[in-house]
Amino acid sequence: MNKTLFRNLFQFMFIISLSTVLFSCGGSDDETPQPKNEDSKQSVGVSANDLLSDDTYTNLVVEIQYAEGYAPPQGAINNLKELLSSRLNKGNITIKTSEIAAPGQSTYTLDELREIEDSNRTEFTSGNTVSTYYFLADGGYSKDSENSKVLGIAHRNTSMVLFQKTIEDNSGGLGQPSTSLLTSTVMNHEFGHILGLVNNGTPVQSDHHDAANGAHCDIQDCLMFWQAETSGGLSDLVGMSSPPPLDPQCIADLQANGGK
Ligand SMILES: [Zn+2]
Ligand SMILES: [Zn+2]
Repeated sequence: MNKTLFRNLFQFMFIISLSTVLFSCGGSDDETPQPKNEDSKQSVGVSANDLLSDDTYTNLVVEIQYAEGYAPPQGAINNLKELLSSRLNKGNITIKTSEIAAPGQSTYTLDELREIEDSNRTEFTSGNTVSTYYFLADGGYSKDSENSKVLGIAHRNTSMVLFQKTIEDNSGGLGQPSTSLLTSTVMNHEFGHILGLVNNGTPVQSDHHDAANGAHCDIQDCLMFWQAETSGGLSDLVGMSSPPPLDPQCIADLQANGGK
């Protein structure tokens, strides 16, 4: 497998291992200029300004479709809306949740996940409304290994996946974060990627890009931190009542690209 293909396959993943959360969501390799339009099949980060500013789109719709049995906790939806309301210049932010038939696979490839979105997504960017999409899967990612599981990915300019079964399997127990908190953390983190963080569609205003770990922030307490140390990760979330916030440098980046 050549290096570029390898990096493409592994970019924008949010991985856990048994005791560690790894935000393994690398930067985009795709340097091809992309037209600014309503196409939902562009690279992660391309729609950052459209999402942050009200120059072109004044409203936002977030469509969340979940496989049967894997509805997102209401607390995660509330936290997402709070993050978006505080950072995006949008008049109206609407979150639409619906159930879709569970494909029933134990794991999904990226192509399969994209097919599920393409067959089911109903909300697309048009007029003065920009739309984004989450699929909450009833299985894991095809790149999972025994000790390292992916919790979420951002894989197109407005598309994200949460591996909700994996999230549920790794939350809610003794010494684990609550399912609501872990869902919320992954949900907000992946949205951070389609907002162009870090340095992947939204240029950095200060030196906080953890380039060695992809499109991530080097501030440990930040939502966009890549955590590879055994002292961190899932156990860091235990006892917290809300997901990690964006740190001031990530917020400054968003503000410089049309956010608030
Ligand atoms: Zn990430
Ligand atoms: Zn940050």
